[in-house]
Amino acid sequence: LRQARECSRGSMTHVFHRQLKAAMPVAAKGDGPYIVDTEGKKYIDASGGAAVSCLGHSHPRVIQAIKDQVDQIAFAHTGFFTSEPAEQLADHLVSRAPGQINHVYFVSGGSEAVEASLKLARQYFLEKGEGQRSLFIARRQSYHGNTLGALSVGGNEWRRTPFAPMLIDAEHVSPCYGYRDRQPDESDEAYGLRVADELESRLKEVGPEKVIAFVAEPVVGATAGALAPVPGYFKRIREICDKNGILLILDEVMCGMGRTGTLFACEQDGVAPDLLATAKGLGAGYMPIGAMMCTSEIYDTIRNGSGFFQHGHTYMGHPTACAAALAVQRAIEEDDLLANVRTMGDKLDAALHDRLGNHANIGDIRGRGLFRGIELVADRVSKEPLDPGLKIDGLIKREAMERGLICYPGGGTIDGKQGNHVLLAPPFIINETHVAEITEKLGDSI
Ligand code: PMP
Repeated sequence: LRQARECSRGSMTHVFHRQLKAAMPVAAKGDGPYIVDTEGKKYIDASGGAAVSCLGHSHPRVIQAIKDQVDQIAFAHTGFFTSEPAEQLADHLVSRAPGQINHVYFVSGGSEAVEASLKLARQYFLEKGEGQRSLFIARRQSYHGNTLGALSVGGNEWRRTPFAPMLIDAEHVSPCYGYRDRQPDESDEAYGLRVADELESRLKEVGPEKVIAFVAEPVVGATAGALAPVPGYFKRIREICDKNGILLILDEVMCGMGRTGTLFACEQDGVAPDLLATAKGLGAGYMPIGAMMCTSEIYDTIRNGSGFFQHGHTYMGHPTACAAALAVQRAIEEDDLLANVRTMGDKLDAALHDRLGNHANIGDIRGRGLFRGIELVADRVSKEPLDPGLKIDGLIKREAMERGLICYPGGGTIDGKQGNHVLLAPPFIINETHVAEITEKLGDSI
């Protein structure tokens, strides 16, 4: 537990409320990319909390949609009714989803979306008479949520260890780290294939007939700082999954819903999963909502088998949450915000490189769209990690809050080495003035 506390380094996961009030500012009002606290201090929300608030705060069309829905009916249980917002949101998502993804199941957040994906994947094979499959393969240095199933596939050992006897079967292979574990003169292509092939080797060792699915975040968020794969990596992963008859589950809880410049992050890697989990940006923080999506192959297997997915939560398909998410997704399209994510993402990247590219302790500036990670190292040339005792991301978070900037501290370890970073995930509505403010305040904080 001490190790867990050490590793959390100033992150925001330990929230017991009456204690929190003594330690943190109290949010009072939101205004576009800004949050104002009860003392009147203004912060630019450059991480959207944890890549949540993709429309900024107090968006009038989303607020109106919530009010309208609450005026009609706030909640009706899915055991008895569906609702217009839930049905329209489902249509909206399915018509834009990658590959053969044709079905959607609403939950209340990211962990629930991952949990539902794991259970549906297991049930799919059960219905096919392949109940011997009970193993998931995921990647080190990834985060999939804090419920027991999601925790099991997550790649942070320190998060899993205290709960090990209660977890489901999961193995972890290397993620695609970019420069860190690259061999001398290895091309992007060769590197991507080599790392992906670790999945194939592992499948050979454990027996593919025992495996349910491979689970991965297309762009690794909180634990690795907006780390995108090299081109070709996910195509190879998809081939390996198909060849070995296992499913591919993509966790787009953080990187999805437009964050990287396309609605689904996996579009940029030219692959479609069998199951996809999303949350955060789906409702943009206006209401808690997540979604698990799957192919017709999976849906039909269950429909034609037992006919019943053995899952369910009280608040799934919550009408007000769906109304909020529908208004968020419509605003993204009506205002052409994905184009702004791409343009402002490039400008933010350029500004960060300008301000921090030569900093002695910046090892990497990376990401896609408005999802950017800044990696902090002891030496920018050798990439020697910083002393973990420094808890540098937590210190930067504190300095940033002082200066009125919200950035997300990420205290992951990269293959056992310290890979501290801060994560930026500002709202899709930002302009060049906001980019300049974020860059200046982050530069000063670092
Ligand atoms: N998956 C990923 C990739 C995430 O980043 C998160 C949240 N940080 C989750 C799952 C879990 O989502 P939630 O906190 O909404 O349960």
